[in-house]
Amino acid sequence: MTVDEALREAVRRLSESGVESPNVDAEWLISELISCARSEIAINEKRELSQEEQCLLSDQLVRRERREPLQSILGTTSFFGFDFCVGPEALIPRPETESLVEHAIQFVKPHPSSMVLDLGTGSGCIAIALAKFCPGTKILASDLHGPALKLAKQNAMRLNALSQIAFCQADGMAALAKNESVDLIVSNPPYIPTSEIRTLQPEVRKHDPPIALDGGADGLYFYRQLAIEGFPRLKKKGQLIAEFGDGQATAVTEVFRQAAWANVEIKNDLGGRKRIVIASTGF
Ligand code: GLN
Repeated sequence: MTVDEALREAVRRLSESGVESPNVDAEWLISELISCARSEIAINEKRELSQEEQCLLSDQLVRRERREPLQSILGTTSFFGFDFCVGPEALIPRPETESLVEHAIQFVKPHPSSMVLDLGTGSGCIAIALAKFCPGTKILASDLHGPALKLAKQNAMRLNALSQIAFCQADGMAALAKNESVDLIVSNPPYIPTSEIRTLQPEVRKHDPPIALDGGADGLYFYRQLAIEGFPRLKKKGQLIAEFGDGQATAVTEVFRQAAWANVEIKNDLGGRKRIVIASTGF
């Protein structure tokens, strides 16, 4: 079987199983298989695939037909220009979250020795990207889910960020010692209302860990926790930056206002949607 034949077969199978972008996904799988860029597939189209390559591709197609995310089949994804290992242990980093990292960098850059808490670090993508761009910064990355924390540590090791990040398995602000405070709290907490999880696409519903998605009955559980418990944990002129879901801007703003935060700003993600809250205590 040639590369061209394999590509057409892969596109056909993925379309039939309802994958949203069968062409792109098939190209990713084939380009990884033959170790070339996606744009170079055409020049390799007559190359014969070995028996071993055909078997591997066939296994990967079965997984993708079962709607396992492409990133988890390939084992890595790019976030903020870095390659992160991904898997069923943690939420796959989303491109929208890169905007949160940009805001965090803007906050930290003028105060290079800031202390940051990343609540619900998952794959570690926010903490690690921030560490790489802000070398003087120390970050405490916490998660309740042990397997996610293990993946985050592995990513920090691969990306050479271990010296800046401490990892802690804890629930919410319990990550900090009794009177400990930080300059910046960042978080991309779970924000899907529980009853909506079953309506999500299979890649998310079946493969992202439920603990990374479920934001309680109205999706706002973790914003209430951040707003109430985060406030006393910030140092002078500290900030809290959190991502939220599409359509939650008004409700999230209200949660922070009610918890007496002085400034609550909403920012857009790269796609122009309101997805980020930046709150400061005002002291
Ligand atoms: N902080 C991680 C991310 O942004 C995990 C978030 C989560 O599990 N809700 O991808």
